[in-house]
Amino acid sequence: MIASPQRLQQVLKSLDLDLTPWSGSGCTSRAPRDGANLAELRTHSLQEADAMLDAAHAAWLRWRSTPAPVRGELVRRLGQTLRQHKAALGELVSLEAGKITSEGLGEVQEMIDICDFAVGLSRQLHGLTIASERPGHRMMETWHPVGVVGIISAFNFPVAVWSWNSALALVCGNAVLWKPSEKTPLTAIACQHLLQRTLADFEAEQPGTVPPGLSQLLIGGRELGEWLAAQPRVPVVSATGSTRMGRDVAVRVAQRLGRSILELGGNNAMIVTPSADLELAARAITFSAVGTAGQRCTSLRRLIVHESVIEPLTRRLEAIYSSIAVGDPLADGTLVGPLIDRAAFDAMQASLDQARAEGGTVTGGERACRGLGDDAWYVRPALVRMSAQSGVMRHETFAPILYVLPYSGDVDAAIALQNDVPQGLSSAIFTGGLREAEVFLSPSGSDCGIANVNIGTSGAEIGGAFGGEKDTGGGRESGSDAWKGYMRRATNTINYSGALPLAQGVRFDV
Ligand code: NAD
Repeated sequence: MIASPQRLQQVLKSLDLDLTPWSGSGCTSRAPRDGANLAELRTHSLQEADAMLDAAHAAWLRWRSTPAPVRGELVRRLGQTLRQHKAALGELVSLEAGKITSEGLGEVQEMIDICDFAVGLSRQLHGLTIASERPGHRMMETWHPVGVVGIISAFNFPVAVWSWNSALALVCGNAVLWKPSEKTPLTAIACQHLLQRTLADFEAEQPGTVPPGLSQLLIGGRELGEWLAAQPRVPVVSATGSTRMGRDVAVRVAQRLGRSILELGGNNAMIVTPSADLELAARAITFSAVGTAGQRCTSLRRLIVHESVIEPLTRRLEAIYSSIAVGDPLADGTLVGPLIDRAAFDAMQASLDQARAEGGTVTGGERACRGLGDDAWYVRPALVRMSAQSGVMRHETFAPILYVLPYSGDVDAAIALQNDVPQGLSSAIFTGGLREAEVFLSPSGSDCGIANVNIGTSGAEIGGAFGGEKDTGGGRESGSDAWKGYMRRATNTINYSGALPLAQGVRFDV
């Protein structure tokens, strides 16, 4: 296995990225695959952050008047740059976040996809025309750029979450200030580098188009996130991470009456009914539960299976789990890479202990691949048979733990169990029955932002709006009409009559 610092040098060369301007102290980038330190980086001070916000605000004042299709052209070029550097950026994601190769590449593909989506959107920022109750009047709705969009992102999608937000924010005419996770600063620096290169090329071709400070990066920890959330000149804060973080950000943003887009923790469930295709379900369950080592917000954490099929399905899963390839995320054939760090390992062990204390039977969950590094935290994915939905199942443990729970009776009983947790991100049902599927998708069905039939809970496409309810925060990002969250809406009434009738028949003769 080539050590991570050596692999990093190749990646940096391929990206033509010099880390010297970013070097310093305060933020350490490390590689979960072998525990090696990758770089020591300088964190930004609050004074520097203030100066960046000045520049971002000034950039927005110009960018908002750039025609939206021209803004789209910039994002199209960003997509091209990402295509050219997909392999290197994907490898960097694997190095710094520990994702297996195909998931690292998949994350960059998601960035490319959202750029394509945003380019199309740049010609479709449509408003409505609305019938007026007054003769000779017309009403319409227009969508305007909102200002500087603040992005706070988590370690587990270190680059895709930025692109979901910034591709939309930029075509919508906004400037961007991004505070990535302190656990994945290098991937953020690489994105910023690729974007800056794209911006510079665009500016060289069309002088005066790209204002300096249009998109900037803040390296640092929680204090910079708190600062960003509190800034009145950041009208929209899009924050992805734990529910604890989201509660804090929500209060700071609300106190100044700003808008937050919150993408927080999940506790995702799948229901398997007696009519389900169990082999298909087993494959979907495995990818959703152990993919990304259980470190996706949409990872499957609770499996709610009808009592008549729970034994064959659990035995099938135990067989799959026993042979799943855990190891170096950059090695061919690996399906499960490392946890992000020791704290994640400790949290997993604590939850497994709690599950045992609450009557669960645990298979797997032990540390694996010790030879890959003392500070590399690999685990065998855990399957936990539970007889009731106890306390441990109500909170999100960001690790590959799948609780398997029986239900009896009809699908409503399973849906009640599924919804009986604080979070509401992703959900799925495996069934061969139309009625069960439709009930699951109905108003009395899943209470989550994502509800799937006969596919797993994770691996969403960018075309749909992404996000969830309850403790997941209620935000929506990515596709559908999520772009509206990055703009302000104006309602316009135009009078082309020679009179001045008032609405609701009010008379005010002067
Ligand atoms: P985290 O909450 O520890 O950190 C996320 C980001 O928030 C980091 O950039 C961090 O510096 C910043 N931050 C922390 N406290 C803050 C505060 N009080 N104010 C402002 N910023 C603050 O999360 P993590 O461990 O990096 O990521 C894992 C969590 O993220 C999981 O709960 C996962 O479900 C969630 N997540 C959700 C989605 C989604 O779309 N719903 C996507 C990815 C991850």
